[in-house]
Amino acid sequence: MGGIARILNGALAPADVAFTRRTTLDRTRAQLADANSQIQALNEALVAAKSQGSGLEATLAEMHSSVLALQGRSADRLQAELAQTKRLLIQHQIASKWSTVDALERLVATPPSERTCPLCNCRAQETLFKLFISQCSFGGGVLKRHQCPKCDVIFGADKMFALNAKELSQEYEWHYMVYEEGDSTAAEVLAFHSLAPRKDGRYVNFGAGAWSKSVQVLRAEGWDVYAYEPHSSAASKADWLITSEAELAARPFDGLYSNNVLEHFRYPVEALVDMKRYLKPGALMAHATPCYEYLYEYTRFHLFFFLGRSRQLLARLAGLSIESFEVEGHYMNCVFSSAVEWPTG
Ligand SMILES: [Zn+2]
Repeated sequence: MGGIARILNGALAPADVAFTRRTTLDRTRAQLADANSQIQALNEALVAAKSQGSGLEATLAEMHSSVLALQGRSADRLQAELAQTKRLLIQHQIASKWSTVDALERLVATPPSERTCPLCNCRAQETLFKLFISQCSFGGGVLKRHQCPKCDVIFGADKMFALNAKELSQEYEWHYMVYEEGDSTAAEVLAFHSLAPRKDGRYVNFGAGAWSKSVQVLRAEGWDVYAYEPHSSAASKADWLITSEAELAARPFDGLYSNNVLEHFRYPVEALVDMKRYLKPGALMAHATPCYEYLYEYTRFHLFFFLGRSRQLLARLAGLSIESFEVEGHYMNCVFSSAVEWPTG
């Protein structure tokens, strides 16, 4: 290689390199541009996909939470619908039963020529008993009751009296699956105070049910009060809750009160005699109920209405005397004393 060539080479070398590099660069640039445009296209596709994807993601998340909410809601709704369906079925079943009983009665029963009062035991012509007709609001159909011409008590319906203890108890079980009693704490508290209670005395709310809170209220005030409720409708387990007669008899009480209970007994005299066994000698019992008049007759579970002379008779037959009788609107309360023993026979 000559000097010129060397010089040229030397001069060209960087150019060649540069040229070479430029060529490579151009090629690379072209490739890069190509790649860039591909990347851009890819990017655009990605962005598009991403926006679609994120939209989809958001939609999915939304759907997921919707599904969860829907699941929760539909589970709740299903539960509520099931409970409501069960309720309607039982109500329908009760109503069907009693409309069948009514229909059978209309078809086959011949009206009796005579009737016996379940309280005073007087037997008289059917026509002498005043007829009261009502409709049970709780699916029990037609309620025909009769008033005794001798003691004034209104009793019935016959179809309820025809039930034995087990059947009547079963009626209550079905009834309380679909119906509830109202809160009558205020009336219970009034009935309790009509006993003129002492702070050192022990008292019992007879047939306390699960709907009223007089025992809790009175205990909070420092009174020694127990609740007696043999049915499963009773309130939650508490040490003041008595569920058996044996438990009741184990600790004699200084007083007993009840609200809306007396009219439910199939044998009210026997029920009062039984209650006396749980009381200390001479203790009082107060029974509050509007059924000292012909009120709240729209339930088949009210078997007796102690009008007129029947209240005194009830007391006498149970070996009790009436201490007081108080009426304040629909609050009616009779206080019985076990102090006086009536001559028997
Ligand atoms: Zn009678």
